[in-house]
Amino acid sequence: MTLPARDAELVQIVEASLADAARRAGEWLVCRPGCTQCCYGTFAINQLDVLRLRAGMDALRTAQPERAAELERRAQRWIDEFGRDFPGDPATGLLGETDAERARFEEFANDAPCPALDAATGLCDLYDARPMTCRVFGPPVQTDAGDGARALGHCELCFVGATPERVAACEMPVPGEVEQSLVDELGREGLSGETVVAFALLRSCGTPEDG
Ligand code: SF4
Repeated sequence: MTLPARDAELVQIVEASLADAARRAGEWLVCRPGCTQCCYGTFAINQLDVLRLRAGMDALRTAQPERAAELERRAQRWIDEFGRDFPGDPATGLLGETDAERARFEEFANDAPCPALDAATGLCDLYDARPMTCRVFGPPVQTDAGDGARALGHCELCFVGATPERVAACEMPVPGEVEQSLVDELGREGLSGETVVAFALLRSCGTPEDG
């Protein structure tokens, strides 16, 4: 299955939203190439992220095959190191959905570098194809604060010493409905469930293998 054409629209909306939030934030937002703290730790990605990463990998294999092969080696090393404790199905890469598996995922591979990170340069090898979580990390965004409550969260390196009003004035709106409609569309076509980046780069993750 290929990446839905409307994903480009989603990415464009998110990029415009980030650019606007960054303009308002000015020096409060310290994201820059080579800053990699947010590239450590493991988070769940949906099947839309998976298809975007796979499209990015395909493009990289064509444009820079050696770099793609190195990225695949990093992903395989990641799975070799952490796959044994993976709270889901290590054969497909799909995360488990029981309460116990979700609790285990909270503690899973929290210090592991993302396999897409080139440690030598501090840059992401799949930056244009990165998951939505990476695109909205940094500026203030609405997050789940538990029990149905919402709160503004941002990278701990940003907005150091800023007032809550300053933070609120720099909120980055996230088009969650647009993303969810695309994820739902994939679900209706039989693609559902969550995984992590390493599996998306190497394995089918329940996705019909399309190269
Ligand atoms: S989100 Fe935080 S860790 Fe990531 S690039 Fe921005 S400042 Fe650096």
